[in-house]
Amino acid sequence: AREAGPDAIRGRVETADGRPVEVAANVGGEAELGPAAERGADGVGLFRTEFLFVDRESPPTEDEQYEAVAAALSAFDDPDDRVVVRTLDVGGDKPVPYLDLPDEPNPFLGRRGIRLSLDEHADLFETQLRALLRAAATEAGDGLAVMFPLVTRVEEVERAVATVESVADDLASEGVDHAVPELGAMVETPAAAFLADALAERLDFLSVGTNDLAQYVMAADRGSDAVAEYHDPLHPAVLRALDRTTAAAEGSDAWVGICGEMAGDPALTELLVGLGFDELSMSAVTAPEVKARVREVDADAAASLASDALACETRREVLDVLGLDDRGP
Ligand code: PEP
Ligand code: MG
Repeated sequence: AREAGPDAIRGRVETADGRPVEVAANVGGEAELGPAAERGADGVGLFRTEFLFVDRESPPTEDEQYEAVAAALSAFDDPDDRVVVRTLDVGGDKPVPYLDLPDEPNPFLGRRGIRLSLDEHADLFETQLRALLRAAATEAGDGLAVMFPLVTRVEEVERAVATVESVADDLASEGVDHAVPELGAMVETPAAAFLADALAERLDFLSVGTNDLAQYVMAADRGSDAVAEYHDPLHPAVLRALDRTTAAAEGSDAWVGICGEMAGDPALTELLVGLGFDELSMSAVTAPEVKARVREVDADAAASLASDALACETRREVLDVLGLDDRGP
């Protein structure tokens, strides 16, 4: 159903020995959908809905949000395509003036992500979920998955799932077409990585956001040049958090993806496959290269590379295991 650009690899890829790995795109606006499909992305692994909320005076309506999600679903309407929509993730580095977010000394450790959706902005959360559940009932809606950002507590997931259920009840009593999509949590805090087994038990999938996870594991502001060398997804502590998450998913029925920047680095594809990710989601530019790399990887060799990397105690050792020269984070 889509045009692929000259470098794109169309369709699903698997490792040289037959393990399927989904290569999806991170999308931060409707204009990115076409290029993502042209680059051969298998779907959207992270649809950042913030773009619908910024640069305006008031929140988008339910219908506007429904249209935007329906557009993403129809850009990826092959039967096995998936579109993972993240519910509103503002606060921290993502301010929205009309939301009147609290002025905090340390916004990255404050009211952000799912915290705002469950409390201060429960109304916006419900409106967004109504739009999503309606979109899930459209023709390409089977591919919809919805995930919650910045989870730290099991109770947050329970409350979010309960909100989805009550929104579904409301839509049913209004006679509005709807369906409940797959539900997941982002693993982007140490708390979520430590509790990944409990999250996986309650959800259909987990998706690791290494931009925030590295920030919180390493106590290094993701936007600060002064600590850029600490904001390091290849630090052994971050790798062990990834391993904990993929192991939890493996012990459950949930699938697991990764949508932080590191997923788009072809030099890390073998490591990420070896750690057990089912889906790699990235800025679409690198999707062709990552797909090509997946096809060369041997899953057993990748698992043994990952286990060597997990045994490392320093970044230097990790780079040696990966055969990489020293490089920026
Ligand atoms: C992440 O934190 O890694 C992530 C993918 O989300 P964002 O960069 O939008 O915070
Ligand atoms: Mg994040």
